Amino acid sequence: MGLFKEVKKPVIKHATASGADVSPRRPSYTAKTAPCMHSCVNSADVRSWLVTLAQHQAYGRTAAQAFELAWRKILEANPFPAICGRVCQHPCELNCNRKAKDGAVSIRQLERFVGDFAIANGLRVELAAPRRAAAARIAVVGAGPAGLSAAYHLARKGYAVTLIDAAPRPGGMMRYRVPRTILPAEVLDGEIANILQLGIEMRSGCAVGRDLSLEELRRGYDAVFFALGLQKAAQLELREGTDGQAATVGELPAELPAIPLQEAVEVDRKALNTISVAIAQGRAVAEVIAAQFECCTVPQTWPAAVIRSDRMKLDWYPEAAPLSSEAEALTEAEALAEATRCMSCGMCMDCETCWMYCSKNCFVKLPKGEHYKIKLDLCNGCGKCAESCPCGYIEMN
Ligand code: SF4
Ligand code: SF4
Ligand code: SF4
Repeated sequence: MGLFKEVKKPVIKHATASGADVSPRRPSYTAKTAPCMHSCVNSADVRSWLVTLAQHQAYGRTAAQAFELAWRKILEANPFPAICGRVCQHPCELNCNRKAKDGAVSIRQLERFVGDFAIANGLRVELAAPRRAAAARIAVVGAGPAGLSAAYHLARKGYAVTLIDAAPRPGGMMRYRVPRTILPAEVLDGEIANILQLGIEMRSGCAVGRDLSLEELRRGYDAVFFALGLQKAAQLELREGTDGQAATVGELPAELPAIPLQEAVEVDRKALNTISVAIAQGRAVAEVIAAQFECCTVPQTWPAAVIRSDRMKLDWYPEAAPLSSEAEALTEAEALAEATRCMSCGMCMDCETCWMYCSKNCFVKLPKGEHYKIKLDLCNGCGKCAESCPCGYIEMN
């Protein structure tokens, strides 16, 4: 059992005389956005990394290789899978199409497993683009989830980034508002270390307005992102730019808020619920900054239509009970089994159903992962492929 039911080569007799046109409509592959991806605060490609785990054997990968690849896919959007896997409100699961069958896929627990796997195995993220010798210098003020996320995405794009924080150690509300019982030190420090090893200059214990003036920031950097967190942002006076001038920031008040020197003992619920959103906002700001320097537009996420469960063939997928508890860490076997509950909503998973049901042999298998080529000159428009596709990937037009 698993993602697919065991199938035998079927004997399908075509209903029409050979060559007869039953319909002018023709099939086409139409990728949809899965609801988990649409709902993820970090716009993570949830479906892709879940299917990577579910189909690791079909792709000739070991479980360890699949976990690493899944981790790298998550890190395209979010450098904190082990942290989000513990604190995110997981709207992805709330909208998972599998709820209409036998229960949502436990995405958050899987994300935690993948993040923990990476920390335990010392995996390191790499630059997405070569370091730019003459790149703009960017300062990020505030090393909480938003600032770390922005610094991560900008550094991966090749920018020289300096991260400035008044607190003695980076992490912001993740360190000073959430106790280590919820975010263990090895998780927090492990994911932060992975970000900083991208070549980010970290200036801890450096308070803007005390150790570094706004004028020094203006002179030293081409862009500054104030990722100060909810409690401090209100203390900055923002002056709108006029006549094409950039917005400026007023002087900080004489009295700066007290910087927490002790790691959290009690949980701050508001902070806990804000972490995933702050991570996503940091990425959004990084994309806006990069778009300014690269003279391009901010990339759109998931423009395709969202596929809902009524467009899926839910009966095609084997029954598989959801995990009984959210509390515990998964074993490797549990993680792999849970991933096979993902139905790959709206994206081909190479199940062969269309190929089997097409009586005109229109579907030509391509190498694994490239799906099929449809020979439309053989097609009579019967629509069996679209009717039978479990994940709703084929449309008749
Ligand atoms: S748990 Fe949160 S970050 Fe992770 S996939 Fe779901 S919504 Fe996205
Ligand atoms: S079944 Fe998989 S692809 Fe579909 S919504 Fe749930 S997690 Fe996403
Ligand atoms: S039936 Fe299976 S192989 Fe064919 S398009 Fe749908 S998911 Fe892909």
